[in-house]
Formats: sequence, C-alpha cells, structure tokens
Amino acid sequence: MRVAIIGAGPAGLAAAIELSRLPFVDYTVYEKANQVKEIGAGISIQPSTWRLLEHLGAAQHLRNSDWFAPEDHHYVRHYNGRTGRLLSTHFQENIPENLLHARCQRAVLQKALLASNDRSRIRTSKKLVDILQLPSGRVQLRFEDGFLDEVDLVIGADGVRSMVRNHAFPEHKISYTGRTVYRTLLPTDLARRVSGLPVDAVIFWHAPKGQWVYTCNLGGGVYELTVMTNEPLTDTEQQCVSWGEDAEVGSMSSHFKNFHRPLQDLFAMTGSIQRYAAFAGPRLPTVISNGNVALIGDASHPLSGAFGAGAGFALEDAYTLARGLSWAHSISSSALLVDALKLFDRVRSPHYERLYGVLDAFKAVGETLADPNVTLNDDEEVAVLVATNWAKRHGWIYEYDITVEVERLGTNVGVSWEKIVEPARARL
Ligand SMILES: Cc1cc2nc3c(=O)[nH]c(=O)nc-3n(C[C@H](O)[C@H](O)[C@H](O)COP(=O)(O)OP(=O)(O)OC[C@H]3O[C@@H](n4cnc5c(N)ncnc54)[C@H](O)[C@@H]3O)c2cc1C
Repeated sequence: MRVAIIGAGPAGLAAAIELSRLPFVDYTVYEKANQVKEIGAGISIQPSTWRLLEHLGAAQHLRNSDWFAPEDHHYVRHYNGRTGRLLSTHFQENIPENLLHARCQRAVLQKALLASNDRSRIRTSKKLVDILQLPSGRVQLRFEDGFLDEVDLVIGADGVRSMVRNHAFPEHKISYTGRTVYRTLLPTDLARRVSGLPVDAVIFWHAPKGQWVYTCNLGGGVYELTVMTNEPLTDTEQQCVSWGEDAEVGSMSSHFKNFHRPLQDLFAMTGSIQRYAAFAGPRLPTVISNGNVALIGDASHPLSGAFGAGAGFALEDAYTLARGLSWAHSISSSALLVDALKLFDRVRSPHYERLYGVLDAFKAVGETLADPNVTLNDDEEVAVLVATNWAKRHGWIYEYDITVEVERLGTNVGVSWEKIVEPARARL
C-alpha cells in the first residue's frame, strides 16, 4: 500500500513512525518547509501523550530537563489576573508519576519525534498544491515544484489550514475567530526575577470577555508567556499571521493595563513577542473521505488550540489510524482500505464531536455573560468563567486513554467484523 503523509508536524511525524512498523505499507512524508522546523512555543504532554510517546519510541529522546511538571502535581491554576487572587487549582489524581502532565517546547517534541523517524522517508520543500482522484481509486498528488506522486492513501497532517481537508471537504471553511494570540519564550531565570510571580507553575491569569495570560515553566531554562486577546485584525493581517509574526509587546500588554503587578513586571521584561490570528472551523462530519483520504491532527479538527492539547490529539489520531490499517490487514484478507478508515473514523469522530460539544457549552456561557440583563462586575465575571468553562469536569479530555478506546473497538471488531465493515462496503 502506497501512502503519502502530508505535513511533518507532530501528527505527520507520529504517523510516519506508526506506518514504519506496518510491513505492508510504503510511505513518504511530504513537508512544504525546506526543513523540518523545530519551532514554536509551549505544548502539553498529557498522560495519554506520554503513553504514546513511549509507544513511538520518542520518549527515550526526552530528558527530564527537557520538560516541566509541577512538583505538587497540579496541572493548572486559575487566578484573577487583576487582583492576583487564586481562584482554583486542578490536581491530577491517580496518575502514575511517569505520566504526569508536563509542558515542553514544541521544538523539543518535534526533535524527539524526528529522532524516531526514518529521515530518508521525509521529503522537504514539497508543498502539496493539488489532489486528483483517479478512476483506479488511487490518488494523484501534485506538488508546487511539479513533482507528482500516485498513492492508495493520503494522510492529511497538514495543520489547521489543511490543503488536504480543502480537497476532501471543499464546502468546509475555517475563519478568523476574532481572537489574536501573542506568544514568547523567555529565560526562566529572567522570570524568577519578577517578585511575586509563581514561576514553577502552570497558570491562567484571567480577564473579562475570555481574555487571559498564560505563564508556564517549560523546562530547559525556558519560560512561556502566551496571551489570548479579543484584538481584531484586518483581513490582510489575518492572512499573513500563521504561528507567528513579530509584534509590539506594548500592543499585547495594552489589553491588560489593570493586571496584577507581577504580570506588569513580566511584560516589561519581555523584549520581543509574536502574534498570530486564531482560525477555527466547524466540526467535520467525518475525518475520512472517498475511501482514500484520512485527516489527522489539526487538519481533522480545526480548533485553533482551544484545549491546549493539539499535539496529544495528533498522536492519538496517528495511533488510531495505524491500528485501523493493521486490523484491516490482519483480520480479513479481503478487507478494504475503506474498512480501516471506517474504524479510524468510528473512534475519532465521536471524540471530536464531544470536544466540539464542550466548545458549544463555552459559547453558551459567553453569550449569557454578554446578556445586557446580566450585571456582573469584571471580577465576578472572571469568577463565573473559571467556575464554568475552566471547571475540572473537563479533565477527561486530558486523561482520555486512546489505547483503551481502540482496544474496546478492536474487541468488538473481532466479534462482529462483518457488521462493521459491510455497511461501509455497501456505500462504495
Ligand atoms: C510552525 C508552527 C509552530 C507551532 N507552534 C505551536 C506552539 O507553540 N504551541 C502550540 O500549542 N501549538 C503550536 N503549533 C500547532 C501544533 O503543532 C499543533 O496544534 C499540534 O501539535 C498538531 O500538529 P499537526 O501536526 O496536526 O499540525 P502542525 O504542527 O500545524 O503541522 C502541520 C505541518 O504541515 C505542513 N504543511 C502545511 N501545508 C502543507 C502542504 N500544502 N504541503 C506540505 N506540507 C504542508 C506544515 O508546514 C507543518 O509542518 C505550531 C504549528 C506550526 C506549524
């Protein structure tokens, strides 16, 4: 089976490791950048992500100093950003020491995944520009430099602005959410100079209208400052900012003028910052198409980092897709690629439906707070937001164990394979 993976972000690199273990698959990773860039700010490693990094062999390339995990096992603290008052702390319970929630630089994760990849399978400077469905059921891929490939399966791991998704679901559109994110990395030692700033912690400092400042130690002497604002960008600005365009620190801090002193001091120490427009789109009805396209990672769920768990979701997708391919190959010699994709979709689409449901609930809270009849002052509004949208009941997102989900389906498949695959075949 010839497979093309489009994109060498966490999703594409994880999928490549998975496929390298399937002897019946011949795969190539195509990445538009001229090198697999180890860039970005902070990223979360949840318990499920740790399990998958172990499974992928990538965890062995991460040293303890590469990441940060709070000593008291909290995974997040929520403060009122104006008063500096602690509103809630969420602790991890019954999580083994080696799986505790951690934060690291995206670059560190990329490097660990790359180290477990066969580099000869990764082709850089290959921007996919066109996909053609052939009468044979195969897919022809055309790249910007004129290079062509023909494959049985295309895995779209090409991020939030996915070209593969545009091909598979032309009616699906992502749009600017009206939110602008600022990010920077600072030396942790510099952050330690800020009096009253809890450096060894994972913190959201909340402001009204869903704006926040996020501070976190990332390990390796690096400290993260990420800021969510409701700053509107022009059409031109929205298009050119994708994961980082240099911006003024002052335009970021202007949104938080009344914030707690330590945050003001941290802003004052920040020399440079980047911003990007947060784009998102509605949930896809399915993450597969035409029996020969599968979407994984941000391409499959354009949520624009809404849950801060994009890398974890990407690894879960790659794992599930590989298990689907493996089962379809081993259980029935007559199994079709579409059967494997169907299995993948049966696990992941309901999961994303649930995640989008959480976002709908968030939106409802925002609408209630915006109702002119609701008269809360800023601090009361922040307290309500933290008690609702940021409540611990959403912890399942981070503790979800994909291996259990996949095994459960696998057991069912063993019992009733035909029941699952026949309806898929009937649609061909
Ligand atoms: C440069 C960059 C920096 C990021 N920094 C952060 C961060 O600091 N914190 C955070 O939480 N998330 C960050 N993200 C997003 C984060 O990596 C994802 O949310 C998550 O890890 C899932 O990864 P992904 O592989 O699905 O998507 P991505 O990480 O977005 O990777 C997609 C890959 O596909 C490639 N690609 C896109 N279009 C094409 C095409 N037409 N042809 C070939 N290749 C293509 C891109 O160059 C990219 O390498 C960043 C993404 C990028 C691209």
